[in-house]
Amino acid sequence: MRRTRERSPSRIIMSSDPQQPIQGMSDMSAPEVERWQSLEYSARDVMRRYGLREIRTPMMEYESVFLHSLGATSDVVQKEMYVMEDRAGRRLALRPEGTAGVMRYLAGCGPEADQARLYYMGPMFRCERPQAGRKRQFHQVGVEIMGPPRAAADAECMLLQMQLLREWGIEDGRLLVNTRGQADKREDLNEALRSALAPHRDILCGDCARRFDVNVMRVLDCKQDACRNVVEALPDLASLMDDDARRYFESVCEMLDAAGAAYDVAPKMVRGLDYYEHTVWEITHPALGAQDALAGGGRYVVEMGGRTLHGVGFAVGMERVMMVLSALDIGANQESPREDIRLVSLGDEALRENFALCERLRRNGRGVGMDLNGRSMKAQMREANKSGARWVVICGESELQQGKRQLKNMRDGTQRTVAASELEDILMDQGDL
Ligand code: AMP
Repeated sequence: MRRTRERSPSRIIMSSDPQQPIQGMSDMSAPEVERWQSLEYSARDVMRRYGLREIRTPMMEYESVFLHSLGATSDVVQKEMYVMEDRAGRRLALRPEGTAGVMRYLAGCGPEADQARLYYMGPMFRCERPQAGRKRQFHQVGVEIMGPPRAAADAECMLLQMQLLREWGIEDGRLLVNTRGQADKREDLNEALRSALAPHRDILCGDCARRFDVNVMRVLDCKQDACRNVVEALPDLASLMDDDARRYFESVCEMLDAAGAAYDVAPKMVRGLDYYEHTVWEITHPALGAQDALAGGGRYVVEMGGRTLHGVGFAVGMERVMMVLSALDIGANQESPREDIRLVSLGDEALRENFALCERLRRNGRGVGMDLNGRSMKAQMREANKSGARWVVICGESELQQGKRQLKNMRDGTQRTVAASELEDILMDQGDL
């Protein structure tokens, strides 16, 4: 957001509407963050069980990191990337997806990179037209499992993804699988596709007429009716490939069958990025409406820093997961975190005493709240009720004089007088707060 300085250097005035974030980007309220955290928590547990460790890469990279891996002609790179120049004229981009940065990182690692099993969580940025389920800043949980093409690895990755969704409460995602064949046979496949499409070239939309020459596989992704009709009549992608590619894909399906996974083959699905080879997949969910892709994944090969990196991975869109969970009415009434103890103070001296006690209890691991604004006893008790605290300590003038405190058990409503000197021990002994 552009900021202009007023005359006084201590005040900054926002030039656009200061109450709104950038279109397509959202604030996340505390209850929303707490829902996300509980999903992240169970995601970390799933990842641990599948032997994956977390990686964090920067949100901004040199633009070339994305150009080289995602492909300069992909829609994400051509139309959707936030690109800027820094003061030295270097071209930088906000990451539109997570794989390229992880590959950049792995290219600089030792031989262990070839067997890395990593996951990431975080924001991605795409300058798309915002609509339901399509944001400019959105969040993904993603996985990269490195290693040469193996049907079992691809199947494992899909099973991990389905398990992740299941643990979040999403059982009815639809897994759609297809193959793009070997990366080094891509030109043969492109040629076969061009031959199949050539008779219909005149009726393709403007974008696809251009894609026909520069990235013909993308025609299969087009949402325009005319193009979809043409694509429908095309032969299945696998039938344009050699026996090796088809056998590989059959093995992937056999592995999924062996593990009892439900899936459908989507014989024309290609997915948008250049780095994919062999298996590609998508998980859709009926609750999502027009943007029904909940997650996507595939096997890829990336040349980076003079190194060839093979892997298989996926990304789940967290905003869409949230949409599905809301539609299924899951997790909406999650409890907010409670305080263990609430301190009520009447008068300045009581406030000072409670203030010091509050700090000691917090240092010792208790969640403690108190009013710092000198509000009335009634207001403080109302706050204590709302806080969900199990114990309320009341300190007023007479308690100070007698060296005592009132200790109220909010669970059963009973109240007793305790010596101030013993209060801390009593509160710290309460194991079941
Ligand atoms: P992709 O990297 O395009 O395969 O996207 C993987 C997943 O990220 C999708 O299945 C969506 O769930 C999510 N996603 C992609 N783009 C957006 C977006 N603009 N807004 C929200 N979620 C998105």
